[in-house]
Amino acid sequence: MPVTTKAGAPWVVKDGLATLGHEATALLHTLDAVFASWGVQEGAGTMDFPPLLAAADLSRLDYFRNFPHLVSVVGRLDSGRWAGYAEQAEVTTVRAGDLADTGHVLPSAACYGAYLHVAGDELTAPLRVTTVATCHRAEQEYHGLRRLGAFRMREVICIGGAEDVRGHLAAFRQRIHDFAGRLGLGLTRERASDPFFRRHDARQLFQALEPVKEEFSYGDGTAVASTNYHLNFFGERCGITYAGRPAFTGCAAFGLERWVHALVDLHAGDPGRAREAVEEAAAAMDAPGTAAADGRERA
Ligand code: AMP
Ligand code: ZN
Repeated sequence: MPVTTKAGAPWVVKDGLATLGHEATALLHTLDAVFASWGVQEGAGTMDFPPLLAAADLSRLDYFRNFPHLVSVVGRLDSGRWAGYAEQAEVTTVRAGDLADTGHVLPSAACYGAYLHVAGDELTAPLRVTTVATCHRAEQEYHGLRRLGAFRMREVICIGGAEDVRGHLAAFRQRIHDFAGRLGLGLTRERASDPFFRRHDARQLFQALEPVKEEFSYGDGTAVASTNYHLNFFGERCGITYAGRPAFTGCAAFGLERWVHALVDLHAGDPGRAREAVEEAAAAMDAPGTAAADGRERA
């Protein structure tokens, strides 16, 4: 029997945290499998990275300088406070002053794990990796599945030469465009600025010349996916080389709950119908004679 939430809705969201019922969960997993399969078709290996990132590693990536507003940590109670909490009849707040210092933060994007994992490597061929992670972002306000404090992000990452990364991102823009067209989703594509190298970096000038971030948005303004070109920023900071030079990197990112939001909205609130539409669109894209399938045959 399909299980909705206790409220009878396909999902409920409280304090920026979502609970999905059976059908919305199935839709999210179906979407994730589609995006992951695109990654595999483009030559990516599937990996799983640690759910916490070392603050020292992120510091090398200017993370605290550029994204202090996104930082979330898993606070652990200081051992000196255990007894006090054990004695309380009801705990509604864990006070910041009761926490032990921590050297780790929660990821706000799935791809950091990949760059940190290959840090120091000398690549002789482009590397493509796909991964999914629960990402945490402290936002000003939360709004249904459109703006959550914790959400799942599927990414397909390319590390290699500039042309490899550009080709990777172009292939994903084409796939997103084709998929949205088949779904009747009507996504608009917009240039955005990428804050990875926002400050004190000559690379920010480059953003004016070549788009480094493009976002795909549903009709209500919800950005469901982005392609991101970091130039050789991560290559330099993580000491990753490709053919003897700092590697270029880029990623295609899909916010899974936002796709669920958009597709269920399009299908009059019915996650089951939305899932059927996703399965049909994905199968049609895999059929011989389509751009994506033909590209694979040529490759
Ligand atoms: P970004 O790195 O900002 O391009 O994020 C990648 C994708 O994650 C976006 O295209 C969204 O689909 C999704 N996303 C970003 N922030 C949120 C949020 N607060 N809630 C839900 N999804 C989000
Ligand atoms: Zn990314």
